[in-house]
Amino acid sequence: MDKYRSLLNERAAVLTQKKATLAPERAVFAEVITRTASQSKETLTRQLFREDQVQQIFEQLDQVRDALQRVNDGSYGACCECGGEISASRLQLLPETPFCLSCQRTTELG
Ligand SMILES: [Zn+2]
Repeated sequence: MDKYRSLLNERAAVLTQKKATLAPERAVFAEVITRTASQSKETLTRQLFREDQVQQIFEQLDQVRDALQRVNDGSYGACCECGGEISASRLQLLPETPFCLSCQRTTELG
């Protein structure tokens, strides 16, 4: 468990740093979006993409925090959907994931 705890802590540090670099730009982008009505669709799409990235980082940070909590209460490594075991290789790659691979697929398919 300690291995995953440090993986998650590293993850949180990286994400927090990313958030710090993206967040100020986010404010600028929001301003540009509201100020410029006549911009091209392409520019707007790119801005929204950046917006998505920031959103994603926030979500990942949430997941990392939840995962650390699961490490603490001993439920880490079990899928939050089906209760099955999440494979070690998957946790190594995506330590904050709350789902096993098959549940993740199901979720993504909607
Ligand atoms: Zn599952």
